[in-house]
Amino acid sequence: MRVLFVTSEVAPLIKTGGLADVSAALPSALRRLGDDIKVLVPGYPQVLKALDTFKIETLFLKLEGFPESRLLSSLLPDGGPLWILDCPELYQREGGIYQDKTGADWPDNAKRFGLLSKVAAILGGADSPSDWKPEIVHCNDWQSGLTPAYLHFSPGGAPCVMTIHNLAFQGVFPPQTVAELALPEESFHPHGAEFYGNLSFLKAGLYYANHVTTVSPSYAEEIQTDALGFGLQGLLKNRNKSLTGILNGIDDNEWNPSTDKALVQNYDVNSLEGKIANKLELQKRMGLNVESEIPLLGLVSRFTFQKGLDLVLEVAPQLISFPAQLVLLGSGDVTMQNNAQALARRYPGQVATVVGFDEALSHLIEAGADLFLMPSRFEPCGLNQMYSQRYGTPPIVHSTGGLIDSVSDCNKASLAKNQASGFVFNKMTTHDLLICIQRALSVYHDRKTWTKVQLNGMNKDFGWQASAAKYHEIYQSCLAN
Ligand code: ADP
Repeated sequence: MRVLFVTSEVAPLIKTGGLADVSAALPSALRRLGDDIKVLVPGYPQVLKALDTFKIETLFLKLEGFPESRLLSSLLPDGGPLWILDCPELYQREGGIYQDKTGADWPDNAKRFGLLSKVAAILGGADSPSDWKPEIVHCNDWQSGLTPAYLHFSPGGAPCVMTIHNLAFQGVFPPQTVAELALPEESFHPHGAEFYGNLSFLKAGLYYANHVTTVSPSYAEEIQTDALGFGLQGLLKNRNKSLTGILNGIDDNEWNPSTDKALVQNYDVNSLEGKIANKLELQKRMGLNVESEIPLLGLVSRFTFQKGLDLVLEVAPQLISFPAQLVLLGSGDVTMQNNAQALARRYPGQVATVVGFDEALSHLIEAGADLFLMPSRFEPCGLNQMYSQRYGTPPIVHSTGGLIDSVSDCNKASLAKNQASGFVFNKMTTHDLLICIQRALSVYHDRKTWTKVQLNGMNKDFGWQASAAKYHEIYQSCLAN
């Protein structure tokens, strides 16, 4: 099946979060199943730089309402075909891919991702200028949310699948954007792309796509509720029959403790003792007291309200009195960054904070920590809790979304079934988090049970194959209807 996979980021070329990991690993897994899948991504400087030698000009595009652009073809590091949407006026700039250096959204984001959506619709449309014509267009998050709307109003195009990676980001812009992006006026309707008087890219995608998916079964249920529906619960409830939750997998080559180059010693289920060298290295590199016995808790995350770092900072003084050590890596909210750095200054040797995005360090934390903290308020899927289980670092997670679907709480029953792989708490309070950490630490000090929990996690199959097969089935059902 020919599938156009439209995304605003793809690892390792450009990554701000889990979407980039999925955009690399899912197409790769679908290719292994025999699908012919091409990824379309904007030509940010990072992408063009990484692929400089491969690019071949293919198509020039002049579209109503947008600056001139062209499509370059290239290959992803795994050999998969890649289309790069090159439009210097919109994508060639210093700063983040969604925000400028101060953290403010780029003022022309509607145009930037409107163009991505529009080009995907042209390529999936009946009059596509390309020889390669997709049978399915697979859109991801709000940045390609307008593709199903454009396609809906130009009959004869490919059916669309729309995947929600995080419903909290919707791409909402003022009503005049409809005309600026040359969207048909009929789409600006409560039964369409309109969201309380504005244009919502994501709502357009959810309304016009043939099928909607999200990244875990539990999150698929949660987004139909008032608590986690972000105003779109009504629409999602209506679309219930064509809404499917499919748990993300992980790239098990990239995240494999037995081959990972970021580790100082590789290990697997048969050589778990190799993990300790990574702990000592992590402590040394982070300026923590180098002690093998003390439990070390790690966190790698965007620093946002969603991820619950505020709760971790609140419980930290008690946590280190247990005793335990804490290492934090992330960036985002400036106040949270400052608070995390202040905590490290207050507890030298016991708490270390690194503000920034550091892929290699994130691998070393997964391997070197004893426990991984992921107290997200909501979590569509989450990847770090899967990485940590693979690395023998049981996660402590809040009972929400994909965390429910990928972590088995350690208790008598789950231990008896060899399923216990982490620690789950139910209420998003400092009290419940602390109790859960204490519970995890008491298991940590019971070495026999601890090793069992580590091995249960390491033996789990977090690969993409089963999930990719489910996406393939959805593509087939879209073609059949
Ligand atoms: P989200 O997409 O909501 O940020 P996920 O857990 O799904 O959360 O994916 C986050 C991805 O980004 C993981 O691969 C994680 O390791 C990585 N990541 C997040 N923050 C950092 C950071 N500061 N440095 C390195 N990697 C990070």
